[in-house]
Amino acid sequence: MTVLAAPKGVAVLGSTGSIGTTALRVLDRQRERFRVTALTANSNATLLREQARKFSPSFVGMVESQGDGDEEWKSGTEALVAAATRNDVDIVLNAIVGAAGLDATLAALEGGKRVALANKETLVIAGDLVRQACASGAGEVVPVDSEHSAILQCITGHPTAQVRRVVLTASGGPFRDWSAERLASATVEDALRHPTWRMGRKITIDSATLANKALEVIEAHFLFGLPYERIDVVVHPQSIVHSFVEFIDGSVLAQMSVPTMEIPVLYALTHPERVADEGVPAFDPVKISPMTYEAVNHERFPALRLGIAAGKAGGAAPAVFNAANECAVAAFLAGKIRFPDISRGIASALDKLSGMPADTREQLLAADATARRHVKEMFGC
Ligand code: NAD
Ligand code: MG
Repeated sequence: MTVLAAPKGVAVLGSTGSIGTTALRVLDRQRERFRVTALTANSNATLLREQARKFSPSFVGMVESQGDGDEEWKSGTEALVAAATRNDVDIVLNAIVGAAGLDATLAALEGGKRVALANKETLVIAGDLVRQACASGAGEVVPVDSEHSAILQCITGHPTAQVRRVVLTASGGPFRDWSAERLASATVEDALRHPTWRMGRKITIDSATLANKALEVIEAHFLFGLPYERIDVVVHPQSIVHSFVEFIDGSVLAQMSVPTMEIPVLYALTHPERVADEGVPAFDPVKISPMTYEAVNHERFPALRLGIAAGKAGGAAPAVFNAANECAVAAFLAGKIRFPDISRGIASALDKLSGMPADTREQLLAADATARRHVKEMFGC
């Protein structure tokens, strides 16, 4: 007779977003293994109420929007931390967008939880603090991001010393074949038209500038302890191969699937196990062919190189890169700046602020706030 373990409690932070709703679809199919015990969102209260009725969690938090003032930041963060540290929560699925997800990640790790991390910004701002929180609290980070899930799936069972390098794939976004002149007048609508993934607005713009891939290179550095020289990026417009791992003997493993976040979300919950899920579309090699690859064009997409340089510089630079990007993307989405201004804002903030102190959470948040102010002043918004 098989005795099933009690279902694991899952907190979904950002449950009304793209990853949050994807996760709830997956969790709905896995009710024997997982129970949704906490939900939080800061938008779409109607959907949050519906989700609460369907999953009956013991904690529901409608988090106030994070503004520029310290108070709003606090109230939002406190509710997220409360959800992430509950006794009936074993796994925290952090699907918040941006720096607002940092404290919940740290608190969950210090409380010994698994953090299924979609909120890559957490690792970019404070990768070292996340490592320390894992060490002191015995928690663990398992990536939700499809590229990092792919790498994890390929290296599980192999020591990192056997990895020669990893190659993250990038779709290239909606502007892959646009000229620099055309990019100068790209509209918000153009930038939101992603060719292969349906995602939240912020990450969709990050995919158009390739800032998303820069965040992911830094994320890979901290997750897998690899130096930046051993992390490469290649453009793969079909988004079928989610990343490559090249081993020291020259053999290369890749993880593939149709582009759906349901697979990496489920794997982040079950790693290193795999469990049956009939909900995802079948894989058909004929339908997905051809698969193509091309080099990144750094001249047209400077945000990638800026982000990798910030990662290599370390200290406050990754936090500055992230905050300047978040602020510039918000300004672009609000119609206040042009598309190329996003990377101009990032470059200027990095130039001025990379040397800020970065040893503690408070210093990193100060660098974050200063970078946001810098970008706002630069564009008068
Ligand atoms: P989204 O905008 O669709 O959803 C964000 C969710 O978080 C919403 O429920 C929103 O209410 C909540 N939220 C946003 N700001 C908040 C705040 N300050 N306090 C509390 N709650 C807040 O975003 P998304 O596309 O689901 O992305 C979430 C994270 O996952 C991002 O870090 C993104 O980079 C990452 N990610 C997303 C995808 C994807 O396919 N969407 C893929 C890989 C990684
Ligand atoms: Mg990704």
